[in-house]
Amino acid sequence: MKAEFPLNEVVGAAIEAVSIRFNNLVYELKRKNVDVTVLSLGEAYFDVPLRTFDDLPFPTIYHYSHSRGIPELREAVARHYSREFHVDVDPATQLVMTVGSKAAIYFSMMAVLNPGDEVIIHEPTWVSYPEQVKLLGAKPVMMPYDCGVKDYGRFVTPRTKLIIVNNPHNPRGEVLSRADMEHLLGVARGAGAFILADEAYSDFVLDGSFTSFARVDPELRNTIVCNSISKNFGISGWRLGYVFSRADLIYQVLKLNQHVVTCPATILQYYVAKHWDDLQKTCRPQIVELAEKRKKVAALLERYGLGFLPGSSTFYFFVSSSPSKLSSEEFATRLLKEDHVAVVPGSGYGGSCDSFMRVSFGTEPLERIEAAFAKIRRLIDATK
Ligand code: PLP
Repeated sequence: MKAEFPLNEVVGAAIEAVSIRFNNLVYELKRKNVDVTVLSLGEAYFDVPLRTFDDLPFPTIYHYSHSRGIPELREAVARHYSREFHVDVDPATQLVMTVGSKAAIYFSMMAVLNPGDEVIIHEPTWVSYPEQVKLLGAKPVMMPYDCGVKDYGRFVTPRTKLIIVNNPHNPRGEVLSRADMEHLLGVARGAGAFILADEAYSDFVLDGSFTSFARVDPELRNTIVCNSISKNFGISGWRLGYVFSRADLIYQVLKLNQHVVTCPATILQYYVAKHWDDLQKTCRPQIVELAEKRKKVAALLERYGLGFLPGSSTFYFFVSSSPSKLSSEEFATRLLKEDHVAVVPGSGYGGSCDSFMRVSFGTEPLERIEAAFAKIRRLIDATK
């Protein structure tokens, strides 16, 4: 029977972000005082001291700001990319601050995609890319997880308009080489397509192996770079992100910002602009600690015979549940309900990833992570 007041079909067909859905279950269990080992969160908890808000420009902080973002913050971002990644961005014309990089990614896609256009996405995919593409009436073309950079060309069609590159990668932890990026830019240019480089974990690479996509395409002819303050500064709840690209494309994003959000929270923009260097100095040693922890967590995974996709950065591992016969959703649900260990089911990361789970080690100490790995091993063995 036809509903009397039908809702939008495209939004109706969208699925919840599986990581957020599982983390909502965790919040509910925690509220019942269940001791959950949380390996499902998409962030690392940094110890970030709270500075005073009293010296921020009052009453300016109460009001809308420039819809590109306040100049001081845009300049801080441009300085960061110049200092750390040797990329030149004009903060006046090539950059927009948004409400988290989630909005930056969505608005960038909206600026380039027409209905029916295709977007190539390599699995495991960050959960929101395919849903955002579908919300725009475009078509995600998924590359299975066991494809490599050289396989992208096989997925190009006359409708290809965008290739998404997440570097460093959530959840693999992989960092792309410059040669791989040059290859990808060649594929995109051959197809007349854009590259959307999501660099949300840029600051988590300590060995100098990270190259911003903007270095490979310095004129930003067909490259859009999105980044986030959530992960690099450990302040995900403040919802600050940004996008930079060539000025005419950024102008389109600016219009979307104006019509959908106006600007990110003015008070938070002033705070982050004022304390940018301080935040970086505070977070850097904690990122160093996380990199050390990554090696220990990798050793624990090996000790428990848990396979994972290769990667060297971020606070994630994409761990295999093979040879368990459970789907990743069943596996993660049983692990949470019976063992009180929260991971994110691999199915949320693409159709080829149903025998995986995402493990984040950013919020739990090593002893609890080891105890959780023992439980994961036990559940795999009990269900193979
Ligand atoms: N991109 C990737 C790869 C992510 O993992 C996330 C968050 O989980 C985001 C973008 C969005 O981050 P935010 O909207 O907090 O900036």
